[in-house]
Amino acid sequence: MHVLVCGGAGYIGSHTCVALAERGHRVVIADNFSNSAPPVLERLARLTGQAPDARRVDVRNAAALAALFAGHRFDAVIHFAALKAVGESCERPLDYFDNNISGTITLLQAMRAADVRRLVFSSSATVYGEPQSVPIDEDAPLSSTNPYGRTKLVMEQLIGDVCTADPGFQAISLRYFNPVGAHPSGLIGEAPNGVPNNLMPYICQVAAGKRERLQIYGGDWPTVDGTGVRDYIHVMDLAQAHVHALEKLDGVRGHLPLNLGAGRGISVLELLRAFETASGREIPYRIVDRRVGDVAEVYADPSRAERLLGWRTQLDVDAMCRDAWRWQSMNPDGYAET
Ligand code: NAD
Ligand code: UDP
Repeated sequence: MHVLVCGGAGYIGSHTCVALAERGHRVVIADNFSNSAPPVLERLARLTGQAPDARRVDVRNAAALAALFAGHRFDAVIHFAALKAVGESCERPLDYFDNNISGTITLLQAMRAADVRRLVFSSSATVYGEPQSVPIDEDAPLSSTNPYGRTKLVMEQLIGDVCTADPGFQAISLRYFNPVGAHPSGLIGEAPNGVPNNLMPYICQVAAGKRERLQIYGGDWPTVDGTGVRDYIHVMDLAQAHVHALEKLDGVRGHLPLNLGAGRGISVLELLRAFETASGREIPYRIVDRRVGDVAEVYADPSRAERLLGWRTQLDVDAMCRDAWRWQSMNPDGYAET
């Protein structure tokens, strides 16, 4: 298929572009590089054997999108382009609403004008807010606890409404749980700006000696060892799920939300120990107060995605840690030095 990948230069998008190329799909990347770096494109060329067709385009720019759609007959769009930092979204909510929601509206309008009616959308487990029980299935109540989460919820609703209004529109929202890891080559991975918010990149930077120690947010949660439990999913498994979703879009009626997780909870201490084994480095840590807004346990019931996509996770926590560490070791400053 001929696919427009918005936000394809980012962490999950870049891995998905490799998976798409391996399956023989033709990809055009549209990215404004607000949270990615053009050197990723050279890495993609090395991995796929072909320079990617990438454009510096902001999805809020209707004219630029119209030109892109005029020049190609896309079969589908994969939409990763969004701002994603929870803390930042609390400080700059309007930027998040503008970038994420206005961007999605502009993209949907451009798709409609070009008669492209198949979409795979990057959603998140954040749409479940504070889950009432685990594992979480797609029928669990939806809510939001911060502006970023609200943008994801609204974007899903927008897409759902477009599907209702136009029965020919086919969309899958993939609700990712906790993506981690990197391509096993060590050529592409997650390159956070500044101090990482998320656990795995923070552990990587402690292991690399860039940060002194991990702060574990709470040791008194009602979990297996008192630390928070999440459903970590290898980004390579996630990338494969996008390929499956794209190829199944044709059979979808309306808007289909699907959880993407391993269906298994891992505590902070369990991840830390697995990382120590994978890296051979000790990770100093200190248990501090709980982080505002955190919850004890979040993990998916991924059975609907398994059933409807014919996909399931293949890579375990050891592979996640090994690949994250390889990426960190080979690229101590992300893409900065390429
Ligand atoms: P990322 O920041 O690495 O990738 C997003 C890409 O979109 C970046 O390359 C950025 O430059 C681009 N972008 C942002 N706004 C844009 C705009 N207006 N126009 C064009 N390009 C734009 O993030 P990621 O981790 O790869 O996440 C991809 C998607 O998955 C996002 O929508 C995110 O909300 C969602 N998601 C991520 C996680 C996670 O933990 N990484 C979890 C759940 C959902
Ligand atoms: N966490 C932590 N220290 C950190 C970052 C995260 O203890 O520096 C914990 C956090 O409390 C949660 C888990 O690690 O229990 C995963 O956090 P992350 O921010 O990666 O994902 P999210 O909480 O958004 O699911």
